[in-house]
Amino acid sequence: MSWWRSVEPAPKDPILGVTEAFLADPSPEKINVGVGAYRDDKGKPVVLECVREAERRIAGNLNMEYLPMGGSVNMVEETLKLAYGENSELIKDKRIAAVQALSGTGACRLFADFQKRFCPDSQIYIPVPTWANHHNIWRDAHVPQKTFHYYHPQSKGLDFAGLVDDIKNAPNGSFFLLHACAHNPTGVDPSEEQWKEISKKIKEKGHFPFFDMAYQGFASGDPERDAKAIRIFLEDGHLLGIAQSYAKNMGLYGQRVGCLSVLCEDEKQAVAVKSQLQMLARPMYSNPPVHGALIVSTILGDPDLKKLWLKEVKGMADRIIGMRTALRENLEKLGSPLSWEHITNQIGMFCYSGMTPEQVDRLTNEFHIYMTRNGRISMAGVTTGNVGYLANAIHEVTK
Ligand code: PLP
Repeated sequence: MSWWRSVEPAPKDPILGVTEAFLADPSPEKINVGVGAYRDDKGKPVVLECVREAERRIAGNLNMEYLPMGGSVNMVEETLKLAYGENSELIKDKRIAAVQALSGTGACRLFADFQKRFCPDSQIYIPVPTWANHHNIWRDAHVPQKTFHYYHPQSKGLDFAGLVDDIKNAPNGSFFLLHACAHNPTGVDPSEEQWKEISKKIKEKGHFPFFDMAYQGFASGDPERDAKAIRIFLEDGHLLGIAQSYAKNMGLYGQRVGCLSVLCEDEKQAVAVKSQLQMLARPMYSNPPVHGALIVSTILGDPDLKKLWLKEVKGMADRIIGMRTALRENLEKLGSPLSWEHITNQIGMFCYSGMTPEQVDRLTNEFHIYMTRNGRISMAGVTTGNVGYLANAIHEVTK
């Protein structure tokens, strides 16, 4: 008996496929600027010192009991403060339904499932372009997708007029997926003034803003500053949702620790919404993993460890900002006639270089440089040791 005869191999994930190809390349010059994971200036993965210290404190004290269905109460509480503000009235008024989620991906998926269950006829508006997995997440939750303008290829910046038009033209009460900061893949974020305008327009139309915040702290180096867009929306009195992740800003990628929150009208509604989020989680994974949550609550619950974390996040962001400058300067020094200003204008982990798929293929085939074919460079993979080689290769293929 063969039940699976008709099963075809799934297409390769465009991002994870890049790493596979990188690993298979024996060249000593090879560079991986595909995957969005932080590397130090030697190109090595990093475990933050605050995480090491939290692990030392946890060691031996951790029982292996299940967390509640909604996850670690302490972790969720600290996580909400990062997004909504340390002294947020909304937290005090218990207006936020929040559960621990399986990192940012799990938070988005849980929200998508919640959206489908309670607004079954709704759609989600997604920016063009976006993190590829957003499409998969809402597809598998059976929520129809629409797109809105975001990136302007000519200016390599924001298509603000297109974005605002799309907000206006969407049917009232639509769901909009927004990247809170450090937009992936473009590195293009609206300015504060533009966020204010976006918030106003979304409010006028009664849309529901859902923020994916996978990079809080990675854009400016300061998690507080990176929450600015959300704070603007809160000031304007929106009800909204947020997916938070500790993958990047605490380097807890494989721990799968994050949070989904939904701001409600009052405490009663928040209790109901939280119970329904838990109801969605129960048959999928029952309750979330304990270890990463304990690392996060240990760090954020201790003023000294939190201070250390803030310093280390800033260190990561600053190294990336430094590499943006270095890459641009190297390209300019090589005499490239093209404008590379966008490398330093863009923000966060990625640079949306503007290179074509054919140019990227040449980088890979001739220079052993691995990245996604949309021209996205993970700046976290750029180091003082390889930036010259990378700039030279980019110059060669864009001549
Ligand atoms: N959202 C965006 C925009 C991302 O870039 C990522 C990771 O690359 C995620 C969410 C989810 O990451 P994780 O599930 O590891 O927290």
